Amino acid sequence: GLPSAKDEIMTIFESILAGKIPAKKVWENEYVLAFEDIHPQASIHILFIPKTKTENLHELASSSNQDQQLVHLFRAIADYAQAQGLDKKGYRIVSNIGAQAGQSVFYTHIHLLAGEVLGAFGRARS
Ligand code: 5GP
Repeated sequence: GLPSAKDEIMTIFESILAGKIPAKKVWENEYVLAFEDIHPQASIHILFIPKTKTENLHELASSSNQDQQLVHLFRAIADYAQAQGLDKKGYRIVSNIGAQAGQSVFYTHIHLLAGEVLGAFGRARS
């Protein structure tokens, strides 16, 4: 189809993947890159991104040739968490999708939060 305005905007995570802006990488393989969030919400706050561009889980899940990306994304998180001992200590994974969740970067990513006892989440603070 015709390119939409969103397609023409290079997201910050594409710039990181392209090496155009720096990031503190913590894990990488052929399919997935993991790096520290620039505004950490816990003492460990990592972002996991597939190396193939999609906007969110729905775009990632809707295309059958993305099946391997989905598997590799979650396997990367599990492997990283296990290597860090987080499977024993506990951790949280989150993906903000769309307006009501406050998604701010329109490139599929999973947040991993850990390293301390985490607060409740869900409703906006008043
Ligand atoms: P979202 O709000 O879409 O769920 O998550 C986007 C995340 O990307 C935020 O937690 C934000 O701190 C992080 N972020 C935004 N810009 C950058 C950047 O340039 N580098 C890194 N490492 N993280 C970023």
